[in-house]
Order: sequence, then structure tokens, then C-alpha cells
Amino acid sequence: MDCIFCKIASGEIKTNIAYQDETAVAFPDINPKAPVHLLIIPRKHIECIADLTVDEEKLMGHLVSIANKLAQQQGISKSGYRLVINCGPHGGQVVPHIHIHLLGGRQMGRLG
Ligand code: AMP
Ligand code: ZN
Repeated sequence: MDCIFCKIASGEIKTNIAYQDETAVAFPDINPKAPVHLLIIPRKHIECIADLTVDEEKLMGHLVSIANKLAQQQGISKSGYRLVINCGPHGGQVVPHIHIHLLGGRQMGRLG
């Protein structure tokens, strides 16, 4: 499959893996928007959160747990951070493989 995040998950494209297990991988965003900007993805290729079924509820909870652990490791748990999932064109999604952005290390702007 010609998906850049699948290739990162399989190791075909090398990056600094921040975390990995059987179902998930985390790595730095190539174009960081904050001092801490990591992406947490499922190994399974799912394009968008709109495509999720009840079967993936546990998986998505797992991804959030990983994001929280990484925030702790990065020392931004107390100062706070933002988790973002973009979906579809209006959501600003560019890479069609579900990913959670973990952003922190600076004050985030208000949404809107
Ligand atoms: P989104 O707009 O939510 O689809 O976000 C896609 C993100 O993936 C952007 O923040 C990009 O900077 C990031 N990105 C694209 N290609 C790579 C890559 N090869 N390695 C790491 N991050 C990437
Ligand atoms: Zn993929």
C-alpha cells in the first residue's frame, strides 16, 4: 500500500521511533508546529476517524494512553498539551492514515 505512515510503521521509511508496540507507533512530525510534536498512529491502515467501527474503540483508547505517556516522558504533562485528530478535507487532514498529533511545549491558541 502506498501510504507513508504504513511505510513508517513497517520500518520501510526510517524515522526516530518514540514508541512502538504490536498495534501502534509514535514518531516526530517532520514539520513540527510546537517544541513537542509527535504523531501516534495505529499500525492498521484506517484512513480517517470517520471510518472507525466499535472494533477499534480499544485501539483508539490505547493511542490516547500512548500520547499521555509520551507527554509525561517529554516533561509536558504539567504544563499541558493538545491532542489533535484531523479528518477529511475540512478537518485539514493531509495524510489519510489516522494519526493523533501530540503538541506541547508552548502556549496553544484558542480554537476557532
Ligand atoms: P494532517 O494534516 O493531520 O494529515 O497531518 C499530517 C502530518 O504529517 C503533518 O503535520 C506533516 O508534517 C506530517 N508528516 C508528513 N509526512 C511525514 C513523515 N514522513 N514523517 C513525519 N511526519 C510527516
Ligand atoms: Zn497507512
